Amino acid sequence: MGFLDQIYRDAVLEHARSPRNRGELDPYSVKQEGINPSCGDELVLYLQIRDGTVEDARFSGHGCAISQASASMMTQAIKGKPLAEVETLIGRFKAMIHGRGVDPSLGDLVVLEGISKLHARVKCATLSWVTLQAALAAEASGERVGQVTVDADGGETDGTQPTLEERSSDSS
Ligand code: ZN
Repeated sequence: MGFLDQIYRDAVLEHARSPRNRGELDPYSVKQEGINPSCGDELVLYLQIRDGTVEDARFSGHGCAISQASASMMTQAIKGKPLAEVETLIGRFKAMIHGRGVDPSLGDLVVLEGISKLHARVKCATLSWVTLQAALAAEASGERVGQVTVDADGGETDGTQPTLEERSSDSS
């Protein structure tokens, strides 16, 4: 077992046991629901955005250890960051989780790189990031509530294209 694999296991278990930033925000700038049907993970992400910065981020919902740990780490990574930096982070995290290797600029998030080899779990790890991306898009277009589904039929790693189909839902 590689060094990162051990760190990964410890970090995921630790974050899943005591998730950071778990809860709800009220008021919030945007509230985004994210669903991963292939595993049953359901996430609700709350963001407070002010002056182009993510002032606060919280999440609620339920799901497997990987989805919970990923959301916990993600909220930690984006709190206090300018939106432009958060967008960069989303792109880098997705590239790493889709098999492009460890990206040291991701800091603590590199422990999740091992998930790129566990194809069935990639969507669990990306759920929070897909939800974040949808939340930022919703906020930019003046919406306060949204929902996004990680497509159950999405392919696996295929090079440069993101393998998750993201779509908005207005089924309310
Ligand atoms: Zn899951």
